[in-house]
Amino acid sequence: MNPVMLITGAGRGIGAATARLAARQGYTVVVNYLRDHRAAEEVISAIREAGGQAIAAQADVASEDGIRGLFATVDAELGRLDVLVNNAGVVDANCRVEDMDFARVERMMRINVAGPMICAREAVKRMSTRRGGNGGAIVNVSSVAARLGGPDEYVDYAASKGAIDSLTRGLAREVAGEGIRVNAVRPGVIRTTIHASADNAGKVDTAGQRIPLGRIGEPEEIASAIMWLVGSEFSTGSLIDVDGGV
Ligand code: NAP
Repeated sequence: MNPVMLITGAGRGIGAATARLAARQGYTVVVNYLRDHRAAEEVISAIREAGGQAIAAQADVASEDGIRGLFATVDAELGRLDVLVNNAGVVDANCRVEDMDFARVERMMRINVAGPMICAREAVKRMSTRRGGNGGAIVNVSSVAARLGGPDEYVDYAASKGAIDSLTRGLAREVAGEGIRVNAVRPGVIRTTIHASADNAGKVDTAGQRIPLGRIGEPEEIASAIMWLVGSEFSTGSLIDVDGGV
């Protein structure tokens, strides 16, 4: 049976590109999404037409019930889990900290921090050799914002990704002796729909000017880094920047 990779937020953007690449490399992919059923089905169809295997799994990974349901689906339909890619995440409209309300920050932390941490919990329960599992890998999708801080744009988002970096380092050491490697990729600006979702669609046209390599990145370039981390047997607790040199 193929190894199984669960990718949160894989209907669009970086998650979708990772799903397509992982399927080409022989994984059965669980394509989690929140609302956009059609986008997720397109990813599944493309994978199947190319001879790969994938299933769609709708779930809100910002809710504990949603996460429990998602992992129960993986258990019931595939019966194993080898890789978790904690990819689902959101940004918000540009805003200075002095203007942020509690609801905005709470939503950001729920989706970008609590969700990935509880998904990691469920993955460790299934993968840990201490609990009878076969080991595995977790890749967290952080952001270059964790390093830069997101001033005048979204310090809350940057802080959420800083938490992802700490989760990566801490969990990597916690489960290193249990057959599980935990790493993170920190993308710079990538051509996805995330920017339009925060009323910042123009960013994909303008951001390239401020990037040393002179352009923004493509989702497939982050997918490659994620798959490299999945396969890099001597890497754990690593944060890989893929950001055009910012
Ligand atoms: P995207 O194009 O907006 O796609 C986000 C995906 O996540 C969609 O499939 C969406 O589902 C899903 N999603 C959102 N909230 C969810 C939830 N609560 N539960 C389950 N799924 C949820 O995003 P992206 O640009 O590919 O970003 C992916 C990751 O990369 C994020 O963690 C982001 O912070 C990080 N990142 C992105 C960039 C960039 O420039 N794009 C840079 C650095 C880091 P639906 O399709 O159903 O809405």
